[in-house]
Amino acid sequence: MSNPENYFDNAAATPVDTTVLEEMLPYFGVEFGNASSIHSWGQRAKAATDLARERVAALLGCAPEEIFFTSGATESNNWVLQSFTEVAVSPFEHSSVWETAKALDYRILENDGYELEDHGESDLVSVMLVNNETGAKFDTPKTTAKIHRDITQALGKVPIDVARIDFASMSAHKLYGPKGVGALYIHGAEQLEPLHYGGEQESGLRAGTLNVPGIVGFGAACALAGQTMADDHIHAESLRETVLSTLAKVPDSQVNQHQANSPYILSVSFLGIEGETLAVEVDSMGFAISSGAACSSRSSEPSHVLTALGIEPEWLRGTVRLSFSRNNTLETAENLARALTDAVRNIRASGK
Ligand code: PMP
Repeated sequence: MSNPENYFDNAAATPVDTTVLEEMLPYFGVEFGNASSIHSWGQRAKAATDLARERVAALLGCAPEEIFFTSGATESNNWVLQSFTEVAVSPFEHSSVWETAKALDYRILENDGYELEDHGESDLVSVMLVNNETGAKFDTPKTTAKIHRDITQALGKVPIDVARIDFASMSAHKLYGPKGVGALYIHGAEQLEPLHYGGEQESGLRAGTLNVPGIVGFGAACALAGQTMADDHIHAESLRETVLSTLAKVPDSQVNQHQANSPYILSVSFLGIEGETLAVEVDSMGFAISSGAACSSRSSEPSHVLTALGIEPEWLRGTVRLSFSRNNTLETAENLARALTDAVRNIRASGK
């Protein structure tokens, strides 16, 4: 049942790669030093986090000094957004941007199709790169404001150009690294006030003892992604095509996609059924999928992202998200598509 080949919810979390775990293990054991200590234990821990910083920076194509480790993308998103006052965000953002924007009364941009309206006089504009619910890819906005991009679903999966970006948020657990660690890319560190006071860690901008094993794992995952990204992308495209060719035969179904879409995420809607019922049904058949965004899938509110993308209410409730990894095989993708086909037919027949 727990075979990662049958796990199609990789946008929620990927399994930690075994080579990543191996690199992390010593830092839970003999190499337990605090990276701020001056003795050898501390210095070895510091060297390990320095290497990790270089590896994350190499994957992103930036300088190591521009990487600031955090607990993940939620923290990174909050840090940036709470540092500005005139902020505009796209209507497609993950809840960690969206809810922050709502709480602080920021401007939510209107969209016309996928074209965002002019963002006016903002100091900061936040537009994600790959959407976590549909995989839709968005361009870097053209603006004189500072630009923040949530690259959580893009890092290690699709090419990223940080040339015009001031800030970017990411999490390790979306690319075969551990949970609870991520980073904020900051181009021009003087732009942000410290997130925490109380220590010199992360150039004094984010005080607190470094999560050495997590950071080591994040670095290892980025190094691995640098090697496997091109092949993984081709594999994800094949998995997506395999699932789609079978699902295309299911009556009253639609694929929610954009012309520029990450191959790692597939959003499909089935008329007349509940996405949650379908996710539970295929779980009982041994497959993990999500009924929309994992972070909001326990909410009964319709997804703001799918609504902003113009998905009709009657389709919206029957939406599920499949998300792929290098562990899925073409055979298990085909099996998943058959399981979904059967489950949709059964649910419709039973009127559940
Ligand atoms: N942004 C996006 C696009 C995401 O997919 C996620 C994770 N679902 C996050 C931010 C938040 O990441 P984390 O939970 O690791 O902080």
